[in-house]
Amino acid sequence: MKFCLVIISVAVILQSKYKQKKMNRKTDTLCLHWEEDEGDCRFYGAVSFPIFQTATYAHPGLGQSTGFDYSRLQNPTREHLEKIVAQLEGGIDAFALSSGMAAISLLLEIFESGDEIIADSDLYGGSIRLFDNVLKKHGIKVCYTECYKNNIEHLITPSTKAIYIETPTNPMMNVTDIAKIAETAHNHNIILIVDNTFLSPYFQNPLKLGADVVIHSGTKFLSGHNDTLAGFIVTNRADIQERLRFLIKTTGAGLSPFDSWLVERGIKTLAVRMEKAQSNAIKIAQWLKNQPKIKSVIYPGLPEHPGYEIMKRQARGFGSMITFEVENKALVEKILSQVRLIKFAESLGGVETLITYPTTQTHADVPEETRLKNGITDCVLRLSVGIENPDDLIEELGKCFNS
Ligand SMILES: *Cc1c(COP(=O)(O)O)cnc(C)c1O
Repeated sequence: MKFCLVIISVAVILQSKYKQKKMNRKTDTLCLHWEEDEGDCRFYGAVSFPIFQTATYAHPGLGQSTGFDYSRLQNPTREHLEKIVAQLEGGIDAFALSSGMAAISLLLEIFESGDEIIADSDLYGGSIRLFDNVLKKHGIKVCYTECYKNNIEHLITPSTKAIYIETPTNPMMNVTDIAKIAETAHNHNIILIVDNTFLSPYFQNPLKLGADVVIHSGTKFLSGHNDTLAGFIVTNRADIQERLRFLIKTTGAGLSPFDSWLVERGIKTLAVRMEKAQSNAIKIAQWLKNQPKIKSVIYPGLPEHPGYEIMKRQARGFGSMITFEVENKALVEKILSQVRLIKFAESLGGVETLITYPTTQTHADVPEETRLKNGITDCVLRLSVGIENPDDLIEELGKCFNS
């Protein structure tokens, strides 16, 4: 009992101290430091937060708890990571799950049979696969539309509960004005969910623009090293937070302590990785534009991209994802069989540059008609630009195009 009282009073003192000194730290600093840790010398002052590899926690006595009971509910390493991600996105809470899809699946549990969701027609293929197969089974209807055109009013019915978007979209890079679509959502008392994977919280914070929930595949930029899977849900709504805390404990896909530590370590370099990858991407996009065998280059950091002005308003950068269309399928095959430094692989957002063929990889399960309507032809390739020297990347692409 005495022990608990000490813990509680220390927590109260720390909290009031924290409230007094809360500073307006910048995002690159927040990637490395959780403000509440400052001055905290628990765990011998370890600068790298410890991995609490434990499933359960001993209680001091009946009705008492250290604050942790069982790791499905919560684990100190996972909780620490969640605080950092919540802080980076400007949310009241974040939930770390075992993959991006686990995060999206958990979030969808807040809906009931009969509910409707309006979703962007161009989304990560796995999200569409989940909506079309699993959600349907639960009696939740998803209607797809081009949300970036902000013409969704006519699709809203009394059963509509949410709008689900990515901006820029995967892989066609359509840009939606988040503040505008949030206004539409709130006028109808529905929530706006934004998958912010492509830009990461370093470049864009949808909650600050009016979104209610942010999703991340933590596998991508947040962890950043192509070495682990993770997913996040971040919210600034207390009702959604409460529901999700119940759901994570009940369904059990919380991120493991070791993976939580890996993602936390990855986030420490988020700022430098995002800046370097973006500067590489700008060089590569400019170079691609001048290649005769390239039909189009879709990168929101090019001034001719239709979403360029919106991106400049609502984000702090353009990211490092480039989609481009080559003149024919033979060239696709040539590129994919010749790349060596650049890896032909699914995924994105890591330090290594990857090239992906959406038609047979990320978007293979999206119905062909939808795929083609969205512009994902069999000549479309997607580059996730890493942090290598850009000249080496351009040299390799040049060899594939021109040999
Ligand atoms: C990869 C990805 C996901 C799924 O995340 P996983 O970690 O692979 O489960 C969701 N949304 C987007 C935009 C993605 O790129």
